[in-house]
Amino acid sequence: MNDSPAMPQGEPSPVPVEPAASTDPVGTENERLRDGVNRCPKCGSTEIQLRPATGMLICLFCRHEWAESAIEGQVFAEAPLSELSGTTIGSGAADIDGSVDDVVTLKCGGCGSEVVVNTAQAMSARCHWCRHILTINEQVPNGAVPDAVLPFALTHEQAVAAIRAFAGKRRIFANRRFLREFTPENVVGVYLPYMVVDGNAGADVWGHGEVLVRTYTRGSGEDKETFYDADVYQVQRHVDFTVDDLTIESSSERANMNTFVNTNNVINTILPFDTKNAVRWNAGYLTGFTSEKRDQDISAIQPVLEHQLLSIARSQVSPSVTGYNRGVRWEHERLEVRGTRWLSMYLPVWLYSYYHEEKGRGMVHYIAVNGRTGETMGSVPVSQGRLLAAAFATGTVVEGLVLAILAATA
Ligand SMILES: [Zn+2]
Ligand SMILES: [Zn+2]
Repeated sequence: MNDSPAMPQGEPSPVPVEPAASTDPVGTENERLRDGVNRCPKCGSTEIQLRPATGMLICLFCRHEWAESAIEGQVFAEAPLSELSGTTIGSGAADIDGSVDDVVTLKCGGCGSEVVVNTAQAMSARCHWCRHILTINEQVPNGAVPDAVLPFALTHEQAVAAIRAFAGKRRIFANRRFLREFTPENVVGVYLPYMVVDGNAGADVWGHGEVLVRTYTRGSGEDKETFYDADVYQVQRHVDFTVDDLTIESSSERANMNTFVNTNNVINTILPFDTKNAVRWNAGYLTGFTSEKRDQDISAIQPVLEHQLLSIARSQVSPSVTGYNRGVRWEHERLEVRGTRWLSMYLPVWLYSYYHEEKGRGMVHYIAVNGRTGETMGSVPVSQGRLLAAAFATGTVVEGLVLAILAATA
């Protein structure tokens, strides 16, 4: 242990050092769709949708299957993350222009009519004259078109099975009514907006660590007391590290709505997603699913990123301080973000919502299934009587609990 007994001069700044100003966004628009029509490459039909069983787009007319190209390695220059500097972003992650209307008017390539798409609700519409499907391929600067999409790989049937298994395994907690009223048709596929971030950072942490030197007792009988003598050290550590594909939510809307607070928590517990398999935008991936528009710019998400980077830094230094057998208390920290790069991405989640009333108080509960891995988590409505019975059996005290987040692996 060679930590200096002297604290650094002056108070270390808790304010992270910002990277250099952004360069222009790197274009990620799907060039192939630039003519405005999203056609099957084989027969030209516009009846396109995702087939989750294969993760491919399928033409409903000729059954041809294909996929958009992977985004990984296609947008940013390939260099080690430890050399990353400044801020680089994909064009789909650019700041949202609040003056841009969500409603986009498209000219139908089939018959020339004008067709309206409200991008707040859908990314495609059918021309009511010639029945062509028109899709939003252009990156409208309202947050609706991301840099990349991670397509659903789990079918609706597989999601329903995962939810049944989840609720079934927790029979002792789950409200009987929930099980009775489970409605598979209400399991819906939603693409949720995330920022996927790579970073190159360094951090310094300062604090005090304690080493136990001896334990002894004094007195006897009822006056017997145990004493612990410890040496206190001032501890300082520096760590340089990189992060690859951190996923951070880019929709604030749900966080601000009470009934949805829980959804956020639930969805964070079904991470991670295999973001390396994300592909270029094609609205065909969204057919039959809903999506939620991004409403946060990078500047609003930056503090969340810095918070996550600091926790990574603390966990990186922890193996080097195990010698302090009574622990280390970190008191100051300083983060330097040398470089970041950002891509906006839609990630697939199967969601089941359930309205439940307990003693006249209504609550919405959710079960979420990762649309890639099948990882399932939920806020299952809990009947108070049954939960109390279970708690008494294990000796735990539970007060007025109507909701329990139950781990899928429990
Ligand atoms: Zn076709
Ligand atoms: Zn038309």
